Amino acid sequence: MLQHRAVYNEEHAMFRDAVRGFIAAEITPNFARWEEQGIVDRQYWTSGGAAGLLCPQVPECYGGPGGSFLHNAIIGEEIAYAGYAGPLSDFSVHSDVCAGYILHFGNEAQKQHWLPRMVSGASVCAIAMTEPGTGSDLQGVRARAVRNGDELVVSGSKTFISNGQHADVVIVVARTSDAPGAKGISLVLVETDRPGFRRGRNLDKLGHKSADTSELFFDEVRVPVGNILGAEGGGFTVLMTELPQERLTLALSSMGAAQRAFDLACDYVRSRRAFGKAVMDFQNTRYKLADLKAELSVGWAFVDQCLARHERGALTSADASIAKLWCSEMHGRVVDQCLQFFGGYGFMREYEICRLYADARVQRIYGGTSEIMRELISRSL
Ligand SMILES: Cc1cc2nc3c(=O)[nH]c(=O)nc-3n(C[C@H](O)[C@H](O)[C@H](O)COP(=O)(O)OP(=O)(O)OC[C@H]3O[C@@H](n4cnc5c(N)ncnc54)[C@H](O)[C@@H]3O)c2cc1C
Repeated sequence: MLQHRAVYNEEHAMFRDAVRGFIAAEITPNFARWEEQGIVDRQYWTSGGAAGLLCPQVPECYGGPGGSFLHNAIIGEEIAYAGYAGPLSDFSVHSDVCAGYILHFGNEAQKQHWLPRMVSGASVCAIAMTEPGTGSDLQGVRARAVRNGDELVVSGSKTFISNGQHADVVIVVARTSDAPGAKGISLVLVETDRPGFRRGRNLDKLGHKSADTSELFFDEVRVPVGNILGAEGGGFTVLMTELPQERLTLALSSMGAAQRAFDLACDYVRSRRAFGKAVMDFQNTRYKLADLKAELSVGWAFVDQCLARHERGALTSADASIAKLWCSEMHGRVVDQCLQFFGGYGFMREYEICRLYADARVQRIYGGTSEIMRELISRSL
């Protein structure tokens, strides 16, 4: 299902092969250890950069390979299909989310400084929106970036931040004025070697065990005013512009992981026997699998339509929210049913389906919960 789709061409097929080669050489041999230690090695970032898999959409003038978002999509689909949700979320936040903010809204100096480093993996980027007191309601952020001469003084705390431990720079969502709601919000680039910045715990999670997810603390961190990304007070508009791409990325990773669960289940029910026949031979199994195949087919068709729209610059917030809502919910249904086919083995951590089940749960939460997706879709009615 991942290949031979009209949205991709021959060059994309070759790129997909290269991504598979990278996964086999750099992720597979290390993955169990990363899951155990709760974080990927820093080396993962530099090898990803060396293989050309970080920020593939960045133009050559900023040190990138000059690809398009379709290259990002292929990387996401393949790592998801390989079952490596943790390492995928690290790369995805950096390449699919953060790089877009800098590429589309950074000034020339910010682009020249950060993009080549992000492409090579020399610098890892995170984005810090969520706070202990607010997640879905982004207008409720309390972190502040107060002007003091040529500097901004950043204070506040953030939580659940992907790449928090490895980050060299964090795009911080903070209030730069007392203007109410969205108006006073700006994005500020904060380098993590500045005094007053502190990383909290690397958080223990249900799934995505090797993903780097942290609390971050900003205690009067001073940055130049030139570190504002986009217009001062325009942070909310930037977020609203960039979040659809993040949501499409999450829809794609749900598709890849759900497809993996389905393929594993098909293999298992062919070989597992009960009552003298293969589990596949029960009508219940075949019909359930038929339903899942139908769901997957519809999902791939819709995400491909969204990818094509995104390439034309025509992906709407509602399109991306529909993709994220439907694919992540479908992902949950698929992993649940596929685990059921494994019987008791499905509950054992040594079986991949067990991890796929745990990893799937967050897809309905981060990047905007399913409830928030419904809210956004309803606004387009
Ligand atoms: C593994 C992981 C990685 C993450 N990475 C990042 C990251 O890199 N950067 C970052 O900034 N954040 C990150 N997040 C945070 C994530 O985006 C938030 O957890 C998510 O947006 C939900 O916010 P919340 O947890 O505060 O839940 P809340 O907003 O408190 O929501 C609680 C419940 O209320 C519901 N709810 C809220 N508002 C409404 C409404 N208007 N109508 C109906 N129901 C509503 C929600 O849907 C949810 O069910 C990550 C989270 C996780 C788990």
